[in-house]
Amino acid sequence: MVSIQAKILNSGADYLQYEQVSVNQCLLPITSEVDADGHLFIGGSEVTSLVARFGSPLYILDEVGLRKACQQYQEAFKQFYPGTAQVIYASKAWSCLAVCGIIATEGLGFDVVSGGELYTALRSLKELGLDPEGKIYFHGNNKSPEELRQGIESNCTIVVDNWWELEQLAQWSDQKIRIMLRLTPGIECHTHEYIRTGHLDSKFGFDPHDLKKLFEFVAGRSHLNCVGLHAHIGSQIFESQPHQDLAKLIVTWQKQALSYGLQIQELNLGGGLGIRYTEQDDPPSIQSWVELVCQGVIEACQDLGMSLPKLMVEPGRSLVGSSCVTAYRIGSSKTVPGIRSYVAVDGGMSDNPRPITYQSVYRCVVANRMTAPLTETVTVAGKHCESGDILIHNARLPKTEPGDVLVVMSTGAYNYSMASNYNRLPRPAAVLVNQGEANLILRRENYEDLLCQDLLPERLLESK
Ligand SMILES: *Cc1c(COP(=O)(O)O)cnc(C)c1O
Repeated sequence: MVSIQAKILNSGADYLQYEQVSVNQCLLPITSEVDADGHLFIGGSEVTSLVARFGSPLYILDEVGLRKACQQYQEAFKQFYPGTAQVIYASKAWSCLAVCGIIATEGLGFDVVSGGELYTALRSLKELGLDPEGKIYFHGNNKSPEELRQGIESNCTIVVDNWWELEQLAQWSDQKIRIMLRLTPGIECHTHEYIRTGHLDSKFGFDPHDLKKLFEFVAGRSHLNCVGLHAHIGSQIFESQPHQDLAKLIVTWQKQALSYGLQIQELNLGGGLGIRYTEQDDPPSIQSWVELVCQGVIEACQDLGMSLPKLMVEPGRSLVGSSCVTAYRIGSSKTVPGIRSYVAVDGGMSDNPRPITYQSVYRCVVANRMTAPLTETVTVAGKHCESGDILIHNARLPKTEPGDVLVVMSTGAYNYSMASNYNRLPRPAAVLVNQGEANLILRRENYEDLLCQDLLPERLLESK
């Protein structure tokens, strides 16, 4: 067997030991291999057999790759940061018991943005017998009073986003509450406008022009234990400069807080490191990104005479994105002469809404024809009643037949978590693969699941 990763990364150059590859720079999960018959294996399982056994569409998650990404973050901080560091998983990227469980056993914390994500993180920690204390950070620009209560009762750190939230917490004076303040840094980065959050007119976070008022308010409320500052500038970022600029800025804010008597210990620089979706994408490695972030913070602390804070980052996409693929069965096709050929698969915008939402570009391979020559240029269409339900434009594929298994790569982040039941498609199953074992981690929805919240009022039955 050969590692396909090497081929795709370096267009046929030498075999690359996957130990040396940064997980976020891989197109296929790091354990991907191809056998002599041109069949794709992930985590030691043959992809077409997984589809035969578990059905399609199917999310296939490579456990080794996911753990490796966690370890690459942790090891990089050990190497480049002399102080305490904590890596927190932005669980909105993919929130389910198994993913949270794996990440928790690698020692990472969680960022949650809703009561549902909090519930999932807490349950996975509980099932694994792990203590949630100090592990969970509760984000969100409009937490409901009920969610705030849930967060406080489970001892989360509340990442306060706005004045309304801060005023509600101020009234919770019978209890000490651990908080961080989220600020909008006013740093621009090059990514899709829907996933940029650092510019000043973002819906998230306090305006830094309000810092004085903010620090005064918090300093005057002794039950609000303000441990940190937070900023997140966006997602799928390939540059390191914005995070270095952010490091400077956030240490400056930390220093300003001192004059209000606020000893802020923790600085959270958010997530945002990009992954490779196509050969053209060139994100920095996890290691070099962490190195630059650490450098930025260390330099800023030296310049401003501050001691090193507890440094936190909260990646989502770069932890789970590259270690999962979605396998579909190919069905119908259509050629519009002189214009294009369509090949349709048995899923689409309901299991991967990113192309239609963000014009995201994906790449695919055919799991049972990995060594066949790429002779066709086709548009891979989903099966939804929506002309825009196109997964990939101009995909380069071998000649395919109905029943072939098409694999879309890098689908671990913001796919399952954004999936819907549009057109009443049941959401796909997900399997975790490792060394030839495959375990179901998300059961495929069935038609009864689709109806389980439906009600028929008596009145309708009587009036028939
Ligand atoms: C979405 C988000 C993240 C994670 O972003 P990635 O690009 O997936 O790493 C981290 N922090 C906050 C506050 C977010 O909203």
